[in-house]
Amino acid sequence: MVKVRFAPSPTGYLHIGGARTALFNWMYAKAQGGSFVLRIEDTDLERSKPEYEAEILDSMKWLGLTWDEFYKQSERFAIYKEQAEKLVAEGKAYRDGTAVLLKVEKGRLVRFDDLIRTLIEFNTDEIKDQVLMKSDGSPAYSFSCVVDDALMGITHVIRGEDHISNTPKQILIYEALGFKVPKFGHLPLIMGADGARLSKRFGAVAVTDYRGEGFLPEALVNYLMLLGWSPGNQEIIGLQNACAKFSIKKVNKTAAQFNMEKLKWTNGQYIKACDTARLTDLIIPLLKEEGLIEATHDRAHIEAAVQLFKGRMLTLRDFLERAGFIFVKELSLSEEIKAELGAKDLARAFGLLAERLEKAEPFDTAAAEKVFRELVAELGMASGDLVHPVRLAISASTIGPGLFETMAVLGRERTVGRLRAAFNT
Ligand code: GLU
Repeated sequence: MVKVRFAPSPTGYLHIGGARTALFNWMYAKAQGGSFVLRIEDTDLERSKPEYEAEILDSMKWLGLTWDEFYKQSERFAIYKEQAEKLVAEGKAYRDGTAVLLKVEKGRLVRFDDLIRTLIEFNTDEIKDQVLMKSDGSPAYSFSCVVDDALMGITHVIRGEDHISNTPKQILIYEALGFKVPKFGHLPLIMGADGARLSKRFGAVAVTDYRGEGFLPEALVNYLMLLGWSPGNQEIIGLQNACAKFSIKKVNKTAAQFNMEKLKWTNGQYIKACDTARLTDLIIPLLKEEGLIEATHDRAHIEAAVQLFKGRMLTLRDFLERAGFIFVKELSLSEEIKAELGAKDLARAFGLLAERLEKAEPFDTAAAEKVFRELVAELGMASGDLVHPVRLAISASTIGPGLFETMAVLGRERTVGRLRAAFNT
């Protein structure tokens, strides 16, 4: 049975490169009916932090990448020590002070057939004797990694390309320990738009940052799975569906380029299709954070606003910027907007519109439209001449959803109040 693992070191947050590695492993496990192990590689006791570990687990759960088995290397030091001693006893490793090193036989070729790339070959002349146990008693990364992969029965090691040079060294360790060597697949790196490796400099790299920015997990997953793999001509594909099509052989050999525009577009597609109640649950905390709603609020009203804007958002945070005008008591208009409105002779039309909307019963989309259309006909105006200024006056924006729907969600009091405030009528 296929068994894969994701083995993050909790020395930082889960970043999108790591998340993609986790995702490809997870998809491979699902595609093959195998299992997925999450192993925390916290052997570096100085640099590993519990808060990073907690954040990694949290991000994994948020992405929906559930695991079948869970391990922490810090709880397995006795196992590494025992395996190192075995190698010393067999003469395959030696002590140097309290450290243990593997003897590397020179003049050999170590080769492996990478699942993604082609045959990769290293000459052992280029490989020094390998530290297995450090002098402080902790295992070196390659040693604990190999011991665990072997004892946990990992059949396929799928990880970032930055680990290629570790692979021959690890193969030598498998051989020394007498364990079966698994298959290896090295994923191409993810580059920023500038062609450089993704880094902090590039902006948000942690999964948590994307969550905070208002990305939906399924959108981020959809985007990440297409970074280096393609299910054919399909940009929006659910995880289930993707797993059914996933093939490790079809993963690209060349670096993938991170494209923020595409990620945002993908997120917008998922937001549009998302259940409004769920979106509302996600948006309410953001509105609270911005002080746009109180602890007690009218949920139905927020839901109506979310429904109105869900086709016009790329991230959940866009809602704050685009629909924020619905939640502020006083809308402050910029000097520019005031000047634009003032330049037109609209005081009378605005006054009449306000007056009639105040009396419309009930106050809803249809009533707002009726009042509006009758008024423009009466004044001999083209609807378009009034739509734009009215939108500016009630939302301080030139774009938005349908004007009458917007009025209905904004409510009578605010709509009328803003029309009046625009010309002090
Ligand atoms: N802990 C290593 C890392 O985070 C794991 C590498 C591997 O998958 O073998 O880079």
